[in-house]
Amino acid sequence: MTSPVSASSRARPVRTRFAPSPTGTLHLGNIRTALFAWAFARHHGGQFILRIEDTDLERSSEASAEGILRDLAWLGLGFDEGPYFQMQRMARYREVIAQLLAEGKAYHCYMSPAELDGLREEQRARGEKPRYDGRWRPENRARLGLTPPPGVDPVIRFRNPDDGVVAWDDAVKGTIEIANAEMDDLVIARAAPVGEVGVPTYNFCVVVDDLDMEITHVLRGDGHVMNTPRQINIFRALGAEPPVFGHLPTVLGHDGEKLSKRHGATGLDEYAQAGYLPEAIINGLARLGWSHGDDEIFTPAQLVEWFNLESLTPSPARFDASKFEWLNGEHIKRLPVAELAQRLKPFLDARGYGPEPAPEVVAELLRERAPTLAKIAEQACYLYVAPEVPAVLRAEHVTEANRTALIEVREALGTIAWTAEAIGVLLKDAAKRHGLKPPQVMMPLRVLLTGSTQAPSVDRLIHAIGRQQVLSRLESI
Ligand code: GLU
Repeated sequence: MTSPVSASSRARPVRTRFAPSPTGTLHLGNIRTALFAWAFARHHGGQFILRIEDTDLERSSEASAEGILRDLAWLGLGFDEGPYFQMQRMARYREVIAQLLAEGKAYHCYMSPAELDGLREEQRARGEKPRYDGRWRPENRARLGLTPPPGVDPVIRFRNPDDGVVAWDDAVKGTIEIANAEMDDLVIARAAPVGEVGVPTYNFCVVVDDLDMEITHVLRGDGHVMNTPRQINIFRALGAEPPVFGHLPTVLGHDGEKLSKRHGATGLDEYAQAGYLPEAIINGLARLGWSHGDDEIFTPAQLVEWFNLESLTPSPARFDASKFEWLNGEHIKRLPVAELAQRLKPFLDARGYGPEPAPEVVAELLRERAPTLAKIAEQACYLYVAPEVPAVLRAEHVTEANRTALIEVREALGTIAWTAEAIGVLLKDAAKRHGLKPPQVMMPLRVLLTGSTQAPSVDRLIHAIGRQQVLSRLESI
């Protein structure tokens, strides 16, 4: 048996990679993979490499590759090398295939797809696992007296070891072992005339890349688990020890079904437009399958400080849109006001709100009142636009009992020092002088200024709206 690939045996500087296929928008599961690879590299002071796996010409697009770059940039997951594009590395893959051919570790196979189908049928009929039988391996070819059929371009197959097992200590799933007898000889180059090397295939390119890019740790989705033993055999055929592998379980929806838009899981563009902070998305994604004690809320810097492979969970994590929203609200509350203001500004601009009150004022006033930047901007409406006050609300709150006090407040607001403290004192004094409870003065003001009873503390609200606007909105008392 070959010894398992172990996480402890490496002293090389950590190099991880994110290797997306540019075939659409990155989904949350992919982004989480990128995040873990990034966090692991950063934690170890290593390098994070971006590789675009664009060999599926039909499904790959430049727009998708650009979207990937945009997503990583928005999240702040900077890479140290790349992006490398597999399509630009074809010459290198062909060179390595030629080397394997020369060393007898790969060979030409002339079996046509129809023959292969026939073979699989027979194997199935015998109750065997359908697989290529190695008949074009040089020794078999000689023994069977096979000669290349005219006009057929051969594929190139990798000569998989016949015996033993491939075993590795998966950083997430623990030890995994696959018998070599389970694996047939993988096609590593598609059909091409002898003397040429056809288009290299996916599992082969990945190995050459991970080797050339000196990747030490491969974190990827567990859909790739079955590729790993094949890849390990190719690494070894190339005289290299494979990296550490960690296969991350799929992210599921809250109902345990495969994650989709139906669960509120959208691309990052949509999160950005809805006013999510990248640090909240990072926090939420990190908690899908990784934990640090009971910590629910943490910054990207803390993630980097704490990240380890040991705390990855082998069971599938469940995505919960409402938790992401809650986390976003928590991160908003924790941002310094000036920083929040800066992030809020585009959302206010988009609604045509400004220049006064300044975004800092909005940030200060509403930071605890809405979980996303878009919702804060939506709420900020009454800071910029005089509201329609529903007649019912007005009648309910502005009564003969408090009208005189309110008029007195309005007059004083024309002249007092414009600070939230002075305004607060004015309101309390007015209530006391007129034998009213403070809410009897404050609630009608809130209603007249915002058209609603749901608004922040009225002294800060009045201060934020500004003297002229406040006076004009109170004219109708
Ligand atoms: N391109 C593959 C994918 O998007 C990743 C392969 C890998 O990480 O090895 O699933």
